[in-house]
Amino acid sequence: MPNMSPKKNPMPSQAPDVRNKNFLEVATGYTQEVAVDEAQRCLQCKHRPCVAGCPVNIAIPDFIKQVAEGNFAGAYDIISESSSLPAVCGRVCPQETQCESKCVRGIKTEPVGIGRLERFVADWHNAQENVEVKKPQSNGHKVAVVGSGPAGLTCAGDLAKKGYEVTVFEALHLAGGVLVYGIPEFRLPKSIVQKEVDTLKALGVKVETNMIIGRVISIDELMDDMGFEAVFIGSGAGLPRFMKIPGENLNGVFSANEYLTRTNLMKAYRDDCATPIAKSKNVAIVGGGNVAMDAARCAKRLGAENVYIVYRRSEEELPARREEVEHAKEEGIIFKLLNNPVEILSDENGNVNGMKCIKMELGEPDESGRRRPVEVEGSEFVIDVDTVVISIGTSPNPLIKSTTKGLETQKWGGIITDENGLTSREGVYAGGDAVTGAATVILAMGAGKTAAAAIDEYIQNK
Ligand code: FAD
Ligand code: SF4
Ligand code: SF4
Repeated sequence: MPNMSPKKNPMPSQAPDVRNKNFLEVATGYTQEVAVDEAQRCLQCKHRPCVAGCPVNIAIPDFIKQVAEGNFAGAYDIISESSSLPAVCGRVCPQETQCESKCVRGIKTEPVGIGRLERFVADWHNAQENVEVKKPQSNGHKVAVVGSGPAGLTCAGDLAKKGYEVTVFEALHLAGGVLVYGIPEFRLPKSIVQKEVDTLKALGVKVETNMIIGRVISIDELMDDMGFEAVFIGSGAGLPRFMKIPGENLNGVFSANEYLTRTNLMKAYRDDCATPIAKSKNVAIVGGGNVAMDAARCAKRLGAENVYIVYRRSEEELPARREEVEHAKEEGIIFKLLNNPVEILSDENGNVNGMKCIKMELGEPDESGRRRPVEVEGSEFVIDVDTVVISIGTSPNPLIKSTTKGLETQKWGGIITDENGLTSREGVYAGGDAVTGAATVILAMGAGKTAAAAIDEYIQNK
């Protein structure tokens, strides 16, 4: 008899006024007892609608059944047939619009906590000692992967398991992509990502960091001179957009990318790290997506007294996940909605000392279906801030396109591929944010998986 409790078992978490002063993980995870109890809420539906909501089609009812029976190792085996990063996805997937949005229990009550259970199973697995990784026999074929985000790591892992000699080239000094430089420690502990990278290395994958492809070596050289038979590009979409308003070049203005990289990858929040970052009192984050929420929550933890989210539409249109908005509010982030910056102001030394905004109201819906924000004439006002973080989106860096023969991209920079990830250049595949623009971890993983299968087929049939 299933557990018919209408609500998900709550996720134990640090209290808001404690966690907004530290970088430890906010959510602390289910215990075994709670996980079994939550798993018993699953109705084991015959038509399995939740599976269709997962971009990598994890056999959700099957793994949940194993959890309900206390067979956590069995649950892990089922998940890992479809996903190579369950400890990551269980934490950061937008479950409410994916697997859990399709859960039958969610029609009248709360859905089964699928993401929380996936996280539990992955954490349980990672806590077991002596989990052996067997290095497969080499098949003698070399594949290069550019970028070590979820797309690159997944592609590399799938190919390594088939015996390919895979080398991952990463521009930064640590592997993991956005998982290490963007998503903060308090949402995704970096030890989890490191464990995934270590597993790949144990499978025989070589990871070369500080290697900017297109500067140090080009894709053409990898293929023509270094013997790589195929290349997967998973270089993400890390080029920040700016508003092009006066004052964006002042001291104290950051892109969210830089602000988060200094904080997360370069550990600016730790006393034993020399990374400089603004010691701010009042910070404005411009934008309303998940990246903006992460930047705001980091600013608060770095010691700012007032942190504002400045967004030109209303709460309803905020693109960030509901859960992230709620977490930010609980932690004391102030939402200044229906406001748009028009100028960043400075003192006589060129440091930010205010941001001029204009009030907005919502007009008719635009092409995106959302109501268009319209300026309210004469409503300018100044917010007292000393730091501004611009978080209005990113696009793929043009470096790879400009240094690779015959690689076609969209006007906005996205690499053009077919449904298997093949680009306009033979032997070169791509996936993740480099193709779609900023999206999600699980979609990037799915693209890495698809491309790995296509690369295998290409090389075997060559
Ligand atoms: P990335 O993760 O961007 O990795 C690309 C890698 O390629 C980087 O390490 C980069 O340094 C490297 N690279 C780039 N150019 C080169 C080059 N020329 N040579 C060598 N290496 C290169 N998604 C979610 O699902 N849930 C979330 O909660 C979430 N939160 C996010 C928070 C932030 C702050 C950000 C920025 C994104 C977030 N996302 C989230 C989106 C998600 O992280 C991305 O969609 C995903 O990481 C894309 O994976 P990827 O492998 O395509 O690229
Ligand atoms: Fe849900 Fe993401 Fe896990 Fe798929 S990978 S089951 S979408 S949490
Ligand atoms: Fe279980 Fe919900 Fe999937 Fe049904 S839809 S099998 S209740 S997780």
